[in-house]
Amino acid sequence: MEVRVRYAPSPTGLQHIGGLRTALFNYLFARSQKGVFILRLEDTDRTRCDDAYVRNLYDTFAWLGFRWDEGPDSGGPFSPYIQSERTGLYRRYAHELVAAGKAYYCFCPPERLDAVRKEREAAHSSQTGYDRFCRTLDAQEAAQRAQTEQCVIRLKIPLDAATRFTDRLIGEVVWKNNDINPDPVLLKSDGFPTYHLANIVDDHLMGITHVLRAQEWLASTPLHVILYEALGWEPPEFCHLPMVMGQDGKKLSKRHGATSVDEFRKNGVLPHALLNYVALLGMSYEEGREIYSLDELVARFNPEKLNKAQAVFDYKKLEWFNTQYIKEMDDEELAAQAIPFAREINLFGPNGAVPCENDRTLFIKALPLVKERAAYLGELAEKLRYLFAEPPLPEASVFMPKKATHEDTLRLLRIGRGFVEELARLNEADGEALVKRIAEDEDVKLGDLLMPLRVALTGTRVSPPLFGSVILLGARRAAQRVDKALSMLAIPPVNC
Ligand code: GLU
Repeated sequence: MEVRVRYAPSPTGLQHIGGLRTALFNYLFARSQKGVFILRLEDTDRTRCDDAYVRNLYDTFAWLGFRWDEGPDSGGPFSPYIQSERTGLYRRYAHELVAAGKAYYCFCPPERLDAVRKEREAAHSSQTGYDRFCRTLDAQEAAQRAQTEQCVIRLKIPLDAATRFTDRLIGEVVWKNNDINPDPVLLKSDGFPTYHLANIVDDHLMGITHVLRAQEWLASTPLHVILYEALGWEPPEFCHLPMVMGQDGKKLSKRHGATSVDEFRKNGVLPHALLNYVALLGMSYEEGREIYSLDELVARFNPEKLNKAQAVFDYKKLEWFNTQYIKEMDDEELAAQAIPFAREINLFGPNGAVPCENDRTLFIKALPLVKERAAYLGELAEKLRYLFAEPPLPEASVFMPKKATHEDTLRLLRIGRGFVEELARLNEADGEALVKRIAEDEDVKLGDLLMPLRVALTGTRVSPPLFGSVILLGARRAAQRVDKALSMLAIPPVNC
């Protein structure tokens, strides 16, 4: 049997880590089984859905770089894949259920439902939900009234029985029907289905074989199983994935940090780093290995190895993944990802200027100087600022090596001025040899010799590798910066 799975988001918010985990696990499962991965938009709650969230969904997955085989934009044999375009189907099945005596019309106005609730509250009753008032109406009369009166369609939950199903991860689940919200609405008075009806109808019609979704949906599953039975359909296999929690054990939320994929993207996380990390949330692959490409994840995805315990989202760990991916990435590709961040800090000119060809080339060449230790894409541009704009000179004390006087510092920088142009023309290894020889000849420590030079060229004591920086700045610019620093230091500090 061909595996068919789906990601079925409701566009009522930005795509978040939990949703991404569900989508990714469905994708990996489908690919690993040579099956089909479907995207279906569950947009029947018209008050909460928004087109901006639909756009965010497409944007997010385009950025992440993995796709569904069938969906609203790619089409497929079960089009349309947008529930608001399939309402006729849901209405048909809801009415069929009424005709079969498995569901019924309910005419209770909201005021009545409200009054029942208040009455129960006042009586401290343990009963909640609908009181099944319309369940016993004469079916023929109700059908007549439904022609002209506002009504909803409710599912008849079988009384005093239990519903069973097997969850692939959790095992055997038995749920007392009394614990299910009494007679949930399937079709609303505006003719739109509720999530439960639309979800089941579509999973059945679209041939879904496995439902992999977060455990927050587990409580809805008994109701879904009853609905499958009522419709005379075989339910798919269920697999409820443990929730993604913050490190304090509470559901991941804004309190913990970024939660939407968009935020991670804006913070400078690489799509593959995020995918790789999220793929590990609730799944073990190989002992002692964490870095995997998408194809490698597909090859290793095994539902038997899903973890039962809740997954904990560790921001530091994601940072580690990002650092690894930045370090390993090809410079051209990394530049493509990092340039938008560089433009944000106006690295190539005011108003987020697009880099000219020279600047782009310089940026790509400079990446090896900083990509070893950057945790986020934005840091790359920050650390390379000194190459694109002359940094302001810090005060004299910043130039001074430990234990050196102002005079010593000036002397060291003058020595630096003597070789900086040559340094710019040598490769790094030859440059290092040259500088070592000079330090020996001048009888100064290498670190002391380079400190004032580093500050003159980069504006700080802690900078990307110096020789590489000098080469990229070029002899003329490097000499100019040193000259400027020399004239500043040459004016003796005022001693009051
Ligand atoms: N529309 C539901 C959601 O927003 C789908 C739940 C399910 O996968 O059944 O997550």
